[in-house]
Amino acid sequence: MSQSKLRHLPAVHALIEHPELASSVESFGREAVVQAAREVLDRVRQKTAEVGVPDMADLQAQIQRHLEHRPTLYRTVLNATGILLHTNLGRAPLPEVAWQAMEAAAGYCDLEMDLSTGKRASRLRDVEEPLTAVTGAEAGMLVNNNAAAVLISLAALAGDRPTAISRGHLVEIGGGFRLPTIMQASGSPLLEVGTTNRTHIKDYEEALETGAGLILLVHRSNFVMQGYVAEPSVQEIIARAHAHDVPVVLDLGSGALVDTESFGLPRETSVSEAVQQGFDVVCFSGDKLTGGPQAGYLVGRREHIDALRQHPLARALRCDKLQLAAAIATLELYRRGEAQRQVPIWEMLRQDTEARASAWREQLGAGTVVDATGAVGGGCLPEGRISGFALALDADDPDGLLAALRRQDPPVIGHIDKNRVLLHPRTVPPQWDAKLVAAAKVALEGTGA
Ligand SMILES: *Cc1c(COP(=O)(O)O)cnc(C)c1O
Repeated sequence: MSQSKLRHLPAVHALIEHPELASSVESFGREAVVQAAREVLDRVRQKTAEVGVPDMADLQAQIQRHLEHRPTLYRTVLNATGILLHTNLGRAPLPEVAWQAMEAAAGYCDLEMDLSTGKRASRLRDVEEPLTAVTGAEAGMLVNNNAAAVLISLAALAGDRPTAISRGHLVEIGGGFRLPTIMQASGSPLLEVGTTNRTHIKDYEEALETGAGLILLVHRSNFVMQGYVAEPSVQEIIARAHAHDVPVVLDLGSGALVDTESFGLPRETSVSEAVQQGFDVVCFSGDKLTGGPQAGYLVGRREHIDALRQHPLARALRCDKLQLAAAIATLELYRRGEAQRQVPIWEMLRQDTEARASAWREQLGAGTVVDATGAVGGGCLPEGRISGFALALDADDPDGLLAALRRQDPPVIGHIDKNRVLLHPRTVPPQWDAKLVAAAKVALEGTGA
């Protein structure tokens, strides 16, 4: 195509500034629209010889089509299930500052450079300080997720000696995380002690005498045990293990850095309580009750954390720069005491869901506001029910209505309760209220509900 014709093509910024594309910017984000505009312009440049220079309206239509038919990137969805940590929807939504930190790190960044000397620096250099400050531990590091944290703990601290674990702790977490399988992968043989419901200190003692190199305790994140059950105290186990010079690791799972009871949730051992109890290493997830990016945090005694850092698996299981940036930003919120307002899961727990459900009902002109319990989800606090309100929509075909809601842009994810579709405000950020109502309107009309 001739250069003169090309000059008639608008610039990307002029295109996306156009009012016609404002709604696309709102639904897909500026970044995506800029990207789509670039790709459409590139295509046009290559093809203009055949088809001529398209006009503005044509270009906008092409951009809109391009956005709607993007290859299956992960899409923003509105989580109206009331489940705070929804495993299928990416667990914890990230704090705003974590986003910003990821953006800053997205291009080139000083991941492994000390800018004052220009020399190589550790990518973990800025993690340990906030991590130890918020947990009270001596040392800390992180790997890709909590499954990896458990794996490296066993590999580095037990080596080829067996890891003793109570049969009551050999759990399955979900998503394929089964303690026995992870333990097998670590290379440390599994040494089961006690029974499913009762384990005594003499069971651990026997294991230590037969050469256990590590004791692993696993927090019951996703189930409860009641009835004829017994377990020695943590203090007893740690004292016996240390008498044999053997470390004790706790897989805490959910990783609360705040007092869950102050949010009306059941009590949960916090990370700092576990550290105080004297565990040598405590591992926990970054994207459960910590409310940040996926990560496996490891905190505990300096000598053990150093051993983990030096193990070859530390390299194999390391976090990328985006995870690290988001993790540090999230930890800093806890350190500054700002987590309650800025970590979305904690912020969501303080919402007035009745007022919002009523506003949805009003704007939609349909549905009923009902008492509805939400849940923490993500395999955390199985007995934690979060009371609140939801909008209930009657439909002849509730499954059809759910599916129609999922087809909206952004897709809305609700759930069925007693043959009605429930939409919970708690897990939908308020700035999306208008979109949610618009989506529900279209879905209701489409399904003739
Ligand atoms: C969730 C959980 C894990 C796995 O953590 P990921 O971060 O998902 O890898 C391991 N142990 C316990 C007790 C858990 O609750």
